[in-house]
Amino acid sequence: MTSIKRGTWFFIFVLGVFTAITCEFTTQLTYLHVVSHIAILTAAHFALVFPPEELLDGLGLTLFDLFTILYNSRQHDFVEYAAKRVAFFHAFVAFYPCVIAAYFVHGNILMTAADTRRFPSVLDYPWMWFTVLFVALIANGYYCIRIKDYKKWPIYQYYIDNPDCVNEAQTVIADPETFRIKLSQRSFLFVTRNFLVYTSNWRFMAVKLADVRLQVDNTRMPMLPNQDEEERIRSIFVKVSFRPAYITPFTITLRQDYYRQLNEILEVPIFVPPHINVPLTFMEELKEDFIQRIASNTRVTHRVKASEKDPCFACGTEENMVKIERSCDGQEQRVFFHDIGARFTPPCENCICRPLWCRSCLAQIFIGRQNIDNVYRYEYHRGSAQCPTCRKNFCIRDVHCVDFDYISEEN
Ligand SMILES: [Zn+2]
Ligand SMILES: [Zn+2]
Ligand SMILES: [Zn+2]
Repeated sequence: MTSIKRGTWFFIFVLGVFTAITCEFTTQLTYLHVVSHIAILTAAHFALVFPPEELLDGLGLTLFDLFTILYNSRQHDFVEYAAKRVAFFHAFVAFYPCVIAAYFVHGNILMTAADTRRFPSVLDYPWMWFTVLFVALIANGYYCIRIKDYKKWPIYQYYIDNPDCVNEAQTVIADPETFRIKLSQRSFLFVTRNFLVYTSNWRFMAVKLADVRLQVDNTRMPMLPNQDEEERIRSIFVKVSFRPAYITPFTITLRQDYYRQLNEILEVPIFVPPHINVPLTFMEELKEDFIQRIASNTRVTHRVKASEKDPCFACGTEENMVKIERSCDGQEQRVFFHDIGARFTPPCENCICRPLWCRSCLAQIFIGRQNIDNVYRYEYHRGSAQCPTCRKNFCIRDVHCVDFDYISEEN
């Protein structure tokens, strides 16, 4: 695989240089040309750094692939290799101003038509671009030299204070028993009972768990409904901070199932601040999803005397009331989930029952009717249920949050 990658990169490099030196320009560019060229250069530069997954990645054309060609992980220990990788990525991004300046210099040098300038007047300052390129190259060179010496990085202080961690990291990664999570195409987390390794293109750490603090920062439901199942799993943002502040805290995003598994391994579970709710069961998770979905349905106004306002018919609390009122077109067939799979149910009907429900109770009633298993759990909202009091069918679009309109007590 590496030899294929090497060949591809070599080919691109040679082709790039060859193309660049054999250009001959005879016409002046418009502003639109220049803007689109810069946009293409920018996109290409950053597509190498943040490759669209499976596209460039499959071809071995990402910056990471280039890095693996230049540095063989077997020749370096983990800390050294990870540090080189982080430095390489930062240096490449910092190289961007050079690319843009080089574009202008290249255009000026290879313009062959006499008395015609390559760039529109506002940008036509060849010497300025030469200077910019020169300065950018010097600055980039200086930056590279400065970050190259990873032993001066704050994180490296940790390995000076804890020299055993360098070897420990190696062992943890090599051990097939280690719990590992692929956070993204190039970011990995390795966890054992007492050691944690995190590695990505932008940062790395290999530390004793006793020296870090993991705390839930936020949780997020996937935004769009009807994504594929994997995408529908909630993300948990976990803030990772060092106890001696060797590096600034950062946040990793864990899928909820990984979050649960990770918590089983850790001696000290990930801390959840009181104001954050991490649903621990599927039911809780789906209930929250149900509540989010019905929030986008229209609201209904419920006229009632203040003294006659009834609490939720199921649990007796009064907050966040909802009402079943048919508002789907009633024609479409609803899917009903039960043990042997999905089957269709009759269309929704008009429920005119007086009792109101709270969001949580109706969510429970609705989801409970679906008999969903793991396979179907994110399809539950396509199902229907029956009103607990009149047995009429309703679907999720027929559930509306209630605004109360209090009428005079006298009537
Ligand atoms: Zn209730
Ligand atoms: Zn009813
Ligand atoms: Zn309906």
